[in-house]
Amino acid sequence: MVHFPTSRGVTVRAVDGVNLQVQQGEFHGIVGESGCGKTSLARTIAGLQRPTGGSVLIDGRELNDWRGDRLAFSRHVQFIFQDPLASLSRRQTIQESLEEPLRIHGIGPASERRRRVAQLLQLVSLPEACLDRLPRALSGGQRQRVAIARALALDPRILICDEPLSALDVSIRAQILNLFADLQKKLDLSIVLIAHDLAIVRLVCTRVSVMYLGKIVETGPAHDLFAQPRHPYTRALLDAAPSTDPKIERSRRVSLLAGDPPSPSAPPSGCRFHTRCPLVKPVCKTEEPMLRYIGDQVSVACHLA
Ligand code: SF4
Repeated sequence: MVHFPTSRGVTVRAVDGVNLQVQQGEFHGIVGESGCGKTSLARTIAGLQRPTGGSVLIDGRELNDWRGDRLAFSRHVQFIFQDPLASLSRRQTIQESLEEPLRIHGIGPASERRRRVAQLLQLVSLPEACLDRLPRALSGGQRQRVAIARALALDPRILICDEPLSALDVSIRAQILNLFADLQKKLDLSIVLIAHDLAIVRLVCTRVSVMYLGKIVETGPAHDLFAQPRHPYTRALLDAAPSTDPKIERSRRVSLLAGDPPSPSAPPSGCRFHTRCPLVKPVCKTEEPMLRYIGDQVSVACHLA
């Protein structure tokens, strides 16, 4: 649970009663409209945001227990920001940037650190010529590769990626997405990918969770969720997503998703989606549907599921 008090005396319930499990080696996409709480959830898993209630367990151990042991925590969880410059110092060369986490955690002598930096460059397919440059001398795609290499320096097991393609040119998004997919397989990483673009999630994720107004409303294997969405909100999101296939695009149903989501500081009673749901029933306005397992590794929060 992540609630933010505001100066106006109201509480924004950014993440509200979310139960999310990420398995080793899973590529888990979290999707939803802006303001649904996905970034707050990602920052909480990464230890960048304290939950106001509930807990984050990594390998069965409470996140707070890891905080006293930064090296162990860094080796478990790393965060990739939207803008790679947010994780790179503008004054450090790429060599310095990649070596820094190793130095901070007392890894090396210098020769071992240089070997590790060379390995990292290879992992993200960057030429050695980058090492002496400053971030601003690289392209956006190269900078994101450096940020990924830096995040991998300590061999983490989980990468949390918050819209890692949105600051990049469309032409290089596919390359960075393929890089994530390659790294996930090569290193058996767990990756949590926050995205608003369903096409991106569909390409690489093995599991998807859909968030609406601070809650997960549907979670399941990606192929299943895209082929047979159970929650009306998931269906509306899929209907609203344009397709690159002209045939599918021509036959696409008009989006059922009308209006803006309500404010997370005053969520509607009962089902939070009831003000926009085309299938709303009287019970939806008074009783909140719980996220319920319905088989085939799929859980849905809807009275009709
Ligand atoms: Fe729609 Fe009711 Fe299901 Fe909510 S619980 S998604 S309002 S049908």
